[in-house]
Amino acid sequence: MPLERRRLRVTGTVQGVGFRPFVYRLARVHALAGWVRNDVHGVTIEAVATADVLEAFVRAIEVEAPAAARVEAVFELERAQAHAVAPAGFVIVASEDAAHVTTAISPDLPVCEDCLRELRNQDDRRYRYPFINCTNCGPRYSIIEALPYDRPLTTMRGFVMCASCEAEYHDPLDRRFHAQPTACEVCGPRLRFVVAGEGVDERWDQDALRATASALRGGAVVAIKGLGGYHLACDARDVAAVAALRVRKFRKEKPFAVMGRDLDALEPHVELSPAARRLLSGSERPIVLLAKRGDTLPADLAPDNAALGVMLPYTPVHHLLFDGGAPELLVMTSANRSSEPIAYRDDEALERLQGLADAFLIGERPIARRLDDSVALVVAGESAVVRRARGYAPAPVLRSERFEQPLLALGAELKSSITLGVGGSAYMSQHLGDLGDLESYQAFRETVQDLCAMYHVDPRQVRMVHDLHPAYASSRFAEQFGAARLAVQHHVAHVASVLAERGAWEVPVLGFAFDGAGLGDDGSVWGGEVFAGSLVGGLRRVAHVRQGYLPGGDAAARTPIQAAAGWLEALGDGVWERVTQPPFDLPAARLGFARQLIHTGLNTLRTTSVGRLFDTVAALTGFHRSMTFEGQAAIGLEAAARRTSESERDLEPYPWPFDGRTWDHAPLLAALLDDIDAGASVARVAWRFHDALARGVAEAAISLRTDEPFERVVLSGGVFQNSLLVERIVLHLDGADIPHWRNKVVPSNDGGISLGQLALAACLPGG
Ligand SMILES: [Zn+2]
Ligand SMILES: [Zn+2]
Ligand SMILES: [Zn+2]
Repeated sequence: MPLERRRLRVTGTVQGVGFRPFVYRLARVHALAGWVRNDVHGVTIEAVATADVLEAFVRAIEVEAPAAARVEAVFELERAQAHAVAPAGFVIVASEDAAHVTTAISPDLPVCEDCLRELRNQDDRRYRYPFINCTNCGPRYSIIEALPYDRPLTTMRGFVMCASCEAEYHDPLDRRFHAQPTACEVCGPRLRFVVAGEGVDERWDQDALRATASALRGGAVVAIKGLGGYHLACDARDVAAVAALRVRKFRKEKPFAVMGRDLDALEPHVELSPAARRLLSGSERPIVLLAKRGDTLPADLAPDNAALGVMLPYTPVHHLLFDGGAPELLVMTSANRSSEPIAYRDDEALERLQGLADAFLIGERPIARRLDDSVALVVAGESAVVRRARGYAPAPVLRSERFEQPLLALGAELKSSITLGVGGSAYMSQHLGDLGDLESYQAFRETVQDLCAMYHVDPRQVRMVHDLHPAYASSRFAEQFGAARLAVQHHVAHVASVLAERGAWEVPVLGFAFDGAGLGDDGSVWGGEVFAGSLVGGLRRVAHVRQGYLPGGDAAARTPIQAAAGWLEALGDGVWERVTQPPFDLPAARLGFARQLIHTGLNTLRTTSVGRLFDTVAALTGFHRSMTFEGQAAIGLEAAARRTSESERDLEPYPWPFDGRTWDHAPLLAALLDDIDAGASVARVAWRFHDALARGVAEAAISLRTDEPFERVVLSGGVFQNSLLVERIVLHLDGADIPHWRNKVVPSNDGGISLGQLALAACLPGG
């Protein structure tokens, strides 16, 4: 058979994930000649062999690619006859243009199967070495200080490789060829155990692991350094330890995540669907919110919550702890007090976590930037990201020629994230927290610098996109530092984020944006809006929830009673006495105060927020206290609805009539009050309320179809993290044969706003 020479291009996440050595080894196996190199498009390969060998080689590239790589496509650029095979065989050549760094930085990766095998093999030189890694696994973004991704520009620069590590690093046939964080017991970082408080009690390496496992078994809270920051860990089945952690963290009710030794350890406690198993074991290793299976674990882990956040081990240290006798279910919560960002520097952790942790397990490898655990869930059979951080960031969320010119979108205020568009890609930062917190705002500023520096964008020259709300810290930042700036309405950005994920620039949609709050075009607080249009044509508001009041502004967002006062107003004066009587028993003083605010107009805004409507129903069904975390009342209501009996699920939803322009909540609340008066359980009320909203969405879509022809319904906004609500909407929309899209890649909450802002700005002239 004659020889052929083919030039191939591989696109996707193919750099920093061991792709060139993989191609090199594959070329050796197939005995073909040529070369492989990284370039701006991904990886380019030239291969010389007979046609059938080349076919097999291309198939193998697609099928056998390293776990962390994502091959989008293998293109053939050229094909020619070849007369001879180059004597050099197959080689890895230097990158084409090092100055042009627009390739994706790999997110951090969980320890791979090969490394795990070595970790557990007594004869391996890295037996039980806590920082084992290779080109297929280990830290990436969390250790990179600058690009290109090379050891001197990572936090590993202080560790000089020993002769054995060095030899592996330079051997193209070795799994550690150019593995920047590679290390071993001889040359790499060590692990240290420190007891908090008086006296220095330091233990190292294997002793440190043993001491940690034993402290955890004994009910202690241990601060354990991970990839992107410190966790506070304790035995998840130890009621006293969990309670102590709550007290020390000032975290009264917000759920804790649990790390299980493996899937078998999680199985008895949460529903593990095939989709959930895939998500848990995938290379992103997020916390996955899964339905609890009965009350098998302390209720205090996630009170009044139908779901429990669980994850699998992802660093060698986690595996070594479980192998070494740590409890098989560990609470793993970010190490901080209430709303502060996660601690990630050692000195800072030792100081800030005084009084929180009984002991510390400190790895010597420094962390370059703080990365929280990501959070995902499965809704109506599909996975969705709720918090995008470790394992996801900063992989590009979208490629498009619309992102050639640099553009920086700054997101909103809560669950902040930023997105940089440059060189044809949109790079979303990790979750940065709530910007009202000073340290989170600091992290936001650092991340603007950081992300821009990575991609050679000057933050003082870049055009910035921000939320319409002028008081958000991100908006003020744009005002202060943006060379040019553009404000985008909050809920339009929510809908746009779904379209951007899919590169659906021209698809006409009907977009539903339901959430807690965002400033509307008319100065009121929006949160129950419908838009028609497309990314390129613009999105117009065509319908919304009938307005209620928001007495006390932000305070109403924390106090369901206050929210209720703002919405019950629609029922007229008779309602006030009724809801202060049994079975409602709303506290009269608090209610009276809120009503006074409404009547005087003092600190009171109009609102269409579906989030506050949820809070209202929560108040009417017994949630009378203040919330201790965002969305708490709605989460409780969803949990209640899921407890309803099979037979009650067929009950008619409450009426939530749509007149072509607004939904009216008065009949909904009236029917709900009657139901409660008639003795309906909280579960049944919550169920009928969820179903009322779901049917209302479908009815609005059907009603608007004639005047606003659309191809798809789009759902976005924090309210759609409610998986029961989404399941019911999907049911009603499918029943009406209406196709729909939701967020998959970026959060539907405010963590996804920056992508929507970026896409909208990129569609404007000059964008
Ligand atoms: Zn590995
Ligand atoms: Zn070494
Ligand atoms: Zn929002």
